[in-house]
Amino acid sequence: MKQKAWLSRTLPSGKILCEACRQSCSLDEGEYGICGVRRVKDGALQLLVYGIVSALHSDPVEKKPMFHFFPKTKALSLGTVGCNFSCSFCQNYQISQYPKENAHQILGQEISPQEIVSLALTNGCDSIAYTYNEPIVFFEYSYDIAKLAHSKGLKNIYVTSGYETKKAIDTLAPYIDGMNIDIKSFSDTFYKEICGARLKPVLEAVQYAHAKGIWIEITTLLIEGKNDSDEEIREIAKFIASIDTSLPWHLSAFHPMYKMLDVPRTQISTLHRAYKIAQEEGLKYVYVGNIDDNAYESTYCPSCKNKVIERSGNIGQFVLNHLDKSGICPNCGYKIEGVWH
Ligand code: SF4
Repeated sequence: MKQKAWLSRTLPSGKILCEACRQSCSLDEGEYGICGVRRVKDGALQLLVYGIVSALHSDPVEKKPMFHFFPKTKALSLGTVGCNFSCSFCQNYQISQYPKENAHQILGQEISPQEIVSLALTNGCDSIAYTYNEPIVFFEYSYDIAKLAHSKGLKNIYVTSGYETKKAIDTLAPYIDGMNIDIKSFSDTFYKEICGARLKPVLEAVQYAHAKGIWIEITTLLIEGKNDSDEEIREIAKFIASIDTSLPWHLSAFHPMYKMLDVPRTQISTLHRAYKIAQEEGLKYVYVGNIDDNAYESTYCPSCKNKVIERSGNIGQFVLNHLDKSGICPNCGYKIEGVWH
């Protein structure tokens, strides 16, 4: 099912520039991009994972995590192999790094965009989530699914590290309703040394996607001693607040994984400290994730402080939504920001 990776152009030098992500790979015949799933063949860039799905599940939308987006609904979630980052702590490294670590092999099951959309409908999902690995590397496949999904009344969610080019965001914006974007750190050195990327493009993608009207939620995996200083947490919080204090911020606990096995699990006290800093910086919706701590997973009305969406149990297991269909707090009438029914 290989397809042309059409978000690309030929440079005067004859090389092909991939315009999907900010790694901006410029490739000669036969070369692969950093993601390992886009390659030049016969003078054109090919997407090697078009229609090749490595993971597919029907998940609560809360698991993405998206907390202000059609609560208590299901998102058909899919990914391919490949990634434009190389995070040493990747929680999904078996699929994200697979092509790079296995001589460019591609792994997965063939599923067409039409089949994905019909699976979402038959499984009672309200949305499709492009997740598990970085979706921008399978841009053309995600685009075809998202467009078809919209025509059938489904929403679309990108769960991403935020390395999309402006051109990619412009092209996706009519069809992508929500994005959960990682801000992995506020240090360019962290991005360079641990993720194989840079900080600035991520911040620009958050700003640009928000300006395009896409509903954004942010996730940061807090890693002890790596990105959890008060100063760094405050810098991220200030950045989010500078865009919009109503962007939800998910603070997740790290557990040892992949090449980062020497760092312990994030302590609950670290997550609580970050939560407090985020509130001090004026963020209205802060959540703690990957630990069993229900008080920090619920949504409180910023005006009257009442609990308006209760979440407990495993993420997405119990969700009690007190808001009305347009997100209005039943106690004080404040409109909670988000995408509601
Ligand atoms: S999507 Fe892949 S090929 Fe394209 S610029 Fe990013 S890393 Fe390079």
